[in-house]
Amino acid sequence: MTVTAIVGANWGDEGKGKMTDVLASDARYVVRYQGGSNAGHTIMNHFGKFALHMLPSGVFNPKVMNVIGPGTALDIEAFLTELAYLKKNGVPTPLISVSERAQVVLPIHRLFDELEEERLGSRGFGSTKKGIAPFYSDKYAKIGVQVADLYDEKQLLKRVTQSLEIKNILLAHLYGRETIQPEALLPDLLAQAEMLRTYVCDTTSMLHGACSRGERVLLEGQLGALRDPDHGIYPYSTSSSTLAGFASVGAGVPPYAITDIIAVTKAYSSCVGAGPFVSELDGSEAEELRRRGGSSGEYGATTGRPRRVGWFDAVATRYGCMVQGANSVALTNLDVLGYLDDIPVCVGYELANGTVTEQFPVGSMLEEAKPVLQCLQGWRCDISGARTFEELPKAAQQYIAFIEASIGTAISYISVGPNRDQLIKRDR
Ligand code: GDP
Repeated sequence: MTVTAIVGANWGDEGKGKMTDVLASDARYVVRYQGGSNAGHTIMNHFGKFALHMLPSGVFNPKVMNVIGPGTALDIEAFLTELAYLKKNGVPTPLISVSERAQVVLPIHRLFDELEEERLGSRGFGSTKKGIAPFYSDKYAKIGVQVADLYDEKQLLKRVTQSLEIKNILLAHLYGRETIQPEALLPDLLAQAEMLRTYVCDTTSMLHGACSRGERVLLEGQLGALRDPDHGIYPYSTSSSTLAGFASVGAGVPPYAITDIIAVTKAYSSCVGAGPFVSELDGSEAEELRRRGGSSGEYGATTGRPRRVGWFDAVATRYGCMVQGANSVALTNLDVLGYLDDIPVCVGYELANGTVTEQFPVGSMLEEAKPVLQCLQGWRCDISGARTFEELPKAAQQYIAFIEASIGTAISYISVGPNRDQLIKRDR
């Protein structure tokens, strides 16, 4: 096995960070291939509890080279802040490489993200306001700034000037704000570039070399399949592809090198931000699950926003595994469900016209769908100390078997707590 993608089967926050931190112990590279500082991975290990936003989750393993690939949205400020945060908390200085082809999130991207969310008001998309949509808009409009541009002042000024031309018209006439002169952005960018310099290299050649030598590489996804712009719940999607299929592009590895795709899913559902969420709970049932979920309740690692929670959604997860091309699944947070007598699972969607489907429908049909629930028996005990499948209570084993059959993908890992060692590996 050379290259493994660790990706989300749902809306994000599935526990990919924990899985990556664990599997990094026998990897040589961990690569971020898309997104920026707009989502957070919570990781708990012997160094403490950390929320990572910009750095790959291999940073706790000193032998791992952590790569920020060309497909990412590099927020240099977040990158440097996070490095300092690791140092302050006693984590040995990690090995890091940043692709010279990655593009840079500029302060104007963050500003536009805020202004646009404010303008949209209740019609907003639940942006984390980290500048990601304006960043990717510029990238695909070919007015972005590549890391390599930071080291050529003339080129940098040209790129920033181009990026500001239309934005200044919008600032003055749509948002009623002061315009920004390109020269004003340069001093900070040049200073940040100096601090970044030692990490910058041709990561694509480095990873191709690693693949040809058969070294183990992990590709770490951000958010989940349902936030993918092509296959997800558009327009409530993110601005870069969250799929393993994109990982070869965003990381810079040959597509055929990716042999294993692990889709991570929780034993229930959670979702930060707007968009249809069929198995969503409200009221006291939601509050209880939210309070018990994750490592300290279901609150966003980036935003602190309470996450929307619901029962496990077999329709969405089967679809998520399909579009990820998953050949195995890591089921996380199983321990959280130990308080329930019965555990409902969403096995179908009832559409507005009364028909029931097991296929994940498109946008407008999804908005009106209602969950069809099937109740499974709970186990009513603490399973966080289990380290083998056999140690799990029968009802928990049956819950896993039911989910496995309903999503059609083998569950190879079962996570029973946020810590590294709270993991059951099944040889399938
Ligand atoms: P990611 O973005 O996919 O890495 O997910 P997040 O880190 O945003 O959210 C997952 C949450 O679940 C975090 O609070 C993790 O610490 C926590 N977590 C991961 N696996 C488990 C588990 O098996 N049990 C419990 N209780 N918490 C877990």
